Amino acid sequence: MRNVVIIGSGCAGNTAAIYAARANLQPLVVTGHEPGGQLSLTTLVENYPGFPRGIDGPDLVENMKRQAIHFGAEYLDGTLLEADLSKRPFRIRVEEEWIETRTLIIASGASARWLGLPAEQRLVGHGVSSCATCDGFFYRDKKIMVVGGGDSAMEEAIFLTRFGSEVALVHRRETFRASKIMLDRARANPKIHWLLNTVVADVHDVEQGIVTGVTLCDLQTGKSYRRDVDGFFVAIGHVPNTKPFLGKIELDPDGYIVSKGGARTSVTGVFHAGDVQDRVYRQAVTAAGAGCMAAMEVERFLESEGH
Ligand code: NAP
Repeated sequence: MRNVVIIGSGCAGNTAAIYAARANLQPLVVTGHEPGGQLSLTTLVENYPGFPRGIDGPDLVENMKRQAIHFGAEYLDGTLLEADLSKRPFRIRVEEEWIETRTLIIASGASARWLGLPAEQRLVGHGVSSCATCDGFFYRDKKIMVVGGGDSAMEEAIFLTRFGSEVALVHRRETFRASKIMLDRARANPKIHWLLNTVVADVHDVEQGIVTGVTLCDLQTGKSYRRDVDGFFVAIGHVPNTKPFLGKIELDPDGYIVSKGGARTSVTGVFHAGDVQDRVYRQAVTAAGAGCMAAMEVERFLESEGH
């Protein structure tokens, strides 16, 4: 029987593990299908406090894990496949193993939605990014492209005009999902160049290991053409990793966990941390803060239950 199992090993999960381990709860962290979370997909992180020269995302998250292990956290490689939250202790299945736990912290994150082009995946971190806040700085005076037609795409395009020599916004329709205010703000920005009714057919250049351009297809004319870009930002939404919890805890229509205040979920004893609940800030530092909150709530909850 575990005191606490933490689902996910990104910033939120690792920070929860550090706090829970230092509270002598011997947490078990289930690493999940993207061990290290989104930080493990980035290169230099320059906005995490405490690192004046920045730190590589994979190093940052590995350091957190080592810190948690130092205080007694255990890590189990695998993915949560099933959860029985109908009564306590909770039962979760990780691969073939069933584990019982008094409390659960869900820190399984949200994965960026990608276009699904093979070249796109090969060039993530080498010109392809899903986070303007993280990577925009690397494209000073460079040509930038953003894909998407929602608030994220508008926000990223506006933000990236601070850096790029130009920002091309590619959207597959000519109407937008973005809110009017965000769209108006983007439209008023002279640095944004609009490529509507257009889809990305390919990203170049896998051979060189760096983004040099894209092939676009104009859906109205059916014509394909190449456009040079240095930074390629995909902003077509995120998918929260909550599939095993569907129907078991309250989720919003997009699948994000609904917070019941602090780190609480709709199920007593189940807590949330990080991007699995947060669709607004989604930063390493906010996820770490949320992990801390969840672990502190677990500690108080177990104490109140007499453990
Ligand atoms: P979103 O609203 O779901 O928009 C996703 C966009 O990506 C849509 O325009 C969609 O096109 C496009 N898209 C999806 N799959 C695609 C594909 N395979 N190929 C090409 N385009 C594709 O997602 P979001 O922009 O991340 O926003 C998510 C939520 O967060 C929203 O509620 C939003 O309001 C909120 N948010 C708010 C702010 C803010 O207020 N500052 C900032 C960011 C996010 P279609 O329209 O054609 O489907």
